[in-house]
Amino acid sequence: MNRFIEKKDSLSSGIRLILCLAVLALASFKPADDQGGNSGKGKIKTIVIDPGHGGHDSGAVGRQSKEKDIALQVSLKLGKRIEKELPGVKVVYTRTTDVYPKLYERPALANKHHADLFISIHCNSGGASSRRVKNSRGRYVTQRVLNTSAKGTETLVLGFSRTGDQDVAIRENASILLEDNYEQNYGGFDPKDPSSYIVFSLMKRQFREQSIKLAAYMQDQFAASSRVDRGVKEQSLAVLATAGMPAVLTEIGFISNPDEERFMMSAAGQESIVTDLFNAINTYRKNVER
Ligand SMILES: [Zn+2]
Repeated sequence: MNRFIEKKDSLSSGIRLILCLAVLALASFKPADDQGGNSGKGKIKTIVIDPGHGGHDSGAVGRQSKEKDIALQVSLKLGKRIEKELPGVKVVYTRTTDVYPKLYERPALANKHHADLFISIHCNSGGASSRRVKNSRGRYVTQRVLNTSAKGTETLVLGFSRTGDQDVAIRENASILLEDNYEQNYGGFDPKDPSSYIVFSLMKRQFREQSIKLAAYMQDQFAASSRVDRGVKEQSLAVLATAGMPAVLTEIGFISNPDEERFMMSAAGQESIVTDLFNAINTYRKNVER
């Protein structure tokens, strides 16, 4: 698994990815009869909260803030709220400081702790576009313009959608490119190549239904707080691929939108987001513990 893999060799890299993820998953999965809330009857005992990005990986960058910092602040506040209001539930974080755990290490930690939920927290970005403008000397130059119009919240679960709809997955999976030895760790998977994403459709979808349920509760809460609801989406996300429990990645707003960036940076905005996420988790918990 150590040799260089050509990017165009997507079938081979796909098989490598499946083998690699299967090994990771097998190494950290727990037996099916010990899966807490997954049966619909168990208790939610442990929740892993994963603040997106960190360290050298800033994630999306707004005018005044970085995704990694907002994700960490909201994650720590969410964890505190869970510990305070649900004292029987243990919270485990993938990071509590500005460091970067590799994407595959995050669900592996959740598997190790036999977690009942995995929640990854991120900020969205409308990205930037290029336009040709005349400079002061009358020459045309390319200028990068932040797309400020996109806004709202969306929550993602592992799945496969058509290549053109993988925009968030491509951006979030790009963190892999900043990791050392990523060819080995992800079996030659190329985060920039949408065609290699099809391998995720072959992954087990054991926790799909419950993941969608939790994601839908989150979006219901955001909508009730008058946030724009972009819905629940299935995307091929490396950070969710090997989680042995219901797992979601929630995009709590667009850092590229100045109003939403201010909201996500403010104490009141973070309080609102934390309350929405907590209510969704609590609704899910009551539902599976019923
Ligand atoms: Zn992100």
